[in-house]
Order: sequence, then C-alpha cells, then structure tokens
Amino acid sequence: MLVTLKNILRIAEARGCAVGSFNTPNMATLRAVLQAAEELGEPVVVMHAQIHEEMGLCKMEEIVPVMRLLADRASVPVCVHLDHGTDLSYLRWGLDLGCTSVMYDGSALDPETNCANTCIAREISLRCGASLEAEIGSMGARESAVSGNTDESLFTDPADAEAFVNRTGVDALACAFGTAHGLYVKQPKLDFERLAKIRSIVNVPLVMHGGSGVSTDDYRKVISLGIRKINYYTYMAKAGGAAVQELSDQMFFHDIEITATEAMKQNAKSAMAVFGGRDPQP
Ligand SMILES: [Zn+2]
Repeated sequence: MLVTLKNILRIAEARGCAVGSFNTPNMATLRAVLQAAEELGEPVVVMHAQIHEEMGLCKMEEIVPVMRLLADRASVPVCVHLDHGTDLSYLRWGLDLGCTSVMYDGSALDPETNCANTCIAREISLRCGASLEAEIGSMGARESAVSGNTDESLFTDPADAEAFVNRTGVDALACAFGTAHGLYVKQPKLDFERLAKIRSIVNVPLVMHGGSGVSTDDYRKVISLGIRKINYYTYMAKAGGAAVQELSDQMFFHDIEITATEAMKQNAKSAMAVFGGRDPQP
C-alpha cells in the first residue's frame, strides 16, 4: 500500500528500528526491492534520484508512475520518494507525478539559502499531502569512490540542525556524520557522539545516507542512536553486477536481468533484515 514518509517513519519509530530506503532507477531494481520487502514483511521506501536521471537511467516521468502502481499493489507499506532533488521545480514535478515524499537537497548552497528553499519545499509538499526530508551538513560528492566522508567541517552541527528543523518543519533530517555516497575503499568511521548529540536536541526522525558498506554493528549502533531511515543502493547494484559477471553462456538480456534481479533482491533482503532489527539473512 502506498504511504507517505511520515507514515512509514512512525512505524519505524514505534518499532525502534530503521526503514530501508532504496534507489530504484529501473524495473529490475524496483522489482528486486519490492519482492524483498514483501518476503520479509518490511515497510520500504523506493526512491527516484535526480542524479540517476542525469546518468541516463529512467526519467522521473517514466519510473515514478510505475513505482506508484507497484507500491499501491504491494502487501507492505511503500513510500515513493524523490531523492536529492536539488531544484524546487523538479521537486514540484515529482509531487505532480505522485511522489508521496520528496527530499530537498540544498546542502551545496549557503545555509541561509538552503533554509529558505527548504521552507518553500515544505509549503509545496504540504499542499500535496506529501512528506519532506532535507539535509544539513554535507555527505560530500555523490557517486564517487571514497573512503568515507572524513571532512568534519562538512559534518552536521547539532545546534544548526536544531535551528534548521525548527525553522523549516521538515519531517525527516539527513545528517552528515561520516558516511558518504558510493563505494567505500575502507570502512567508514562514524561520529556516534555527534549523532547522539543531534538526536538529543532534534525532534524529527534522522536519516543516514551512504548506507551501503556500513558494518552490521554500525547499523545497529546508529539505529540505537535514532537513525530511522537508511539510504542504500550502491552495494545492491554491485551485487547485481557481480552475479552477472559469473554468467558466461547467457546471450539474452532477459536471462541477465533475471540473474541480476535475484542477486539484488537477496542483497536488499539482508540489508532490510538488519535495518528492521532482525538477524542478518544468510
Ligand atoms: Zn543521499
């Protein structure tokens, strides 16, 4: 069933766990993630990222209606979310297409402009009955091979986070405390103390981006410190790619797609199980 981010975060909060939030830039990843969620009975967020469209993957107007259709039919709560919308007209369009939640990402802007634009994004999303996530601090460059975000000057300042949430009224806040987007070349070092401080003064659910490649222990730790949404894509996509590389005699794309979808589903299931507070899947 189709729900907003606010609804799904309420479920996560009540359970004291996190909801997995997966980029689904094509049918294969979308089906993999929804099947994983249904098999586990876990609520899930599926996301269209503006950056994937820029890379030549599905356009928002192609994939969001399909995301909505499959979310509606799913046996578990599903939120259809726009990930890292960097301009307000794109956000408005995502809402017109039926996203039940959007993320406004003004983290590359000066803090005052980020705050002012997030307030506008709040008005737009409220009018559509949708939820809003925003970001303060910065997770660094997207889609690059990194070894974690080690530049503490980009980390979220707890007092700034409190002021930002009070001014903007966002439903969820993405915080920077050591994770980064893309592949990690070594295990990221997370600033748990900072996260605990943010949690103690910010009264909305917190979001961790760059969730792929974090250890099971660290997932559990950040969830215990108030992370309620974990964005995850890179390692699922990598699992699909690795499974395909093992095929030597398949000449048809549909066979390759089926293999990749199955591998991504298993990877997504393992991640979802940990986020949902269960034992890791074999
Ligand atoms: Zn992100």
